Amino acid sequence: MGVAALMTQSDDVKATVEWAEQFQGNYRLMTAAEKAEARARLERRYSAQYSKKVTVDTSEALPGVLMGYALNIRKCIGCRRCVNACVEENNQSRGKNPGERIEWIQVLRMERGEFSKEKMNEGYPEGLGIQVGGNAYTPAGQVLEGQYHYEPALVPEKDATYMPIACMQCEKPPCVKVCPVRTTYREADGPVVIDYNWCIGCRMCMGACPYWARRINLTTPVLPKAEMNPVTHYLGNRPRMRGVVEKCHWCLQRTRQGRYPACVEVCPVGARKFGNLLDPQSEVSLILARKNVFRLKAELNTFPKFFYFYD
Ligand code: SF4
Ligand code: SF4
Repeated sequence: MGVAALMTQSDDVKATVEWAEQFQGNYRLMTAAEKAEARARLERRYSAQYSKKVTVDTSEALPGVLMGYALNIRKCIGCRRCVNACVEENNQSRGKNPGERIEWIQVLRMERGEFSKEKMNEGYPEGLGIQVGGNAYTPAGQVLEGQYHYEPALVPEKDATYMPIACMQCEKPPCVKVCPVRTTYREADGPVVIDYNWCIGCRMCMGACPYWARRINLTTPVLPKAEMNPVTHYLGNRPRMRGVVEKCHWCLQRTRQGRYPACVEVCPVGARKFGNLLDPQSEVSLILARKNVFRLKAELNTFPKFFYFYD
């Protein structure tokens, strides 16, 4: 008996919905009809749960598209508007207790400083006989251990520089390689996605990701009804459950409809760019062709589709 038939026959709709969801197949392997059933079921459940009409898009990868992202590292002023816009758009948990606030983007604040050969040899503690690293006592240049919880009255701060990071949507993603239930995978148009229904919360992906991009819901996500964004994608910003891992997916609910990700739209200095890497005339392709570009931890051969650039 099909799931839809079961649902129409049941007296206890809620129990049947949960049963159907429990036994739902892996989204990657489901047929088009099964996906349509799952979508209808979720739209009904979320609409009842959040007291508003919720849509769950299931649109597939866009043909002829490979999504790419570029960020002008010189322009970022560290305002963290991208972080907050992402939380609102993507229905992240926003409670006040530890573990209840989830942010996919981190904007690292790092000290400005000069880096010189001489400074490399300064700062070793005398007499200890151990090397703790050059410049142990004085900051000298940018390090990748920045602060991401900072609340200055004004940004940018005089002695700070900022480095936003999030999922790099690797072409060779370590998180995909380690997932034991194959619930995380790379879509044909680029983003690496997660089928939350199949995530077992083992956190292998969190350990494997070299970019600190994945977050786990240790508690039931705190998502007030009034703040819930009802425009969702199955593989994107639909509500998550306790015990599942999530991360940035380049706002699939927007980008598959030809819109920019929320972080691109909100950035007040235009530091963030997004487009089709397969189109040589897209903004992101022109940046790659003309600007100074680098990728974070390029030596790991993860081949991120997130590029940093400067003029
Ligand atoms: S919104 Fe733009 S300027 Fe502000 S922190 Fe994010 S990237 Fe930087
Ligand atoms: S940045 Fe991390 S989470 Fe994103 S695709 Fe790469 S390994 Fe996976």
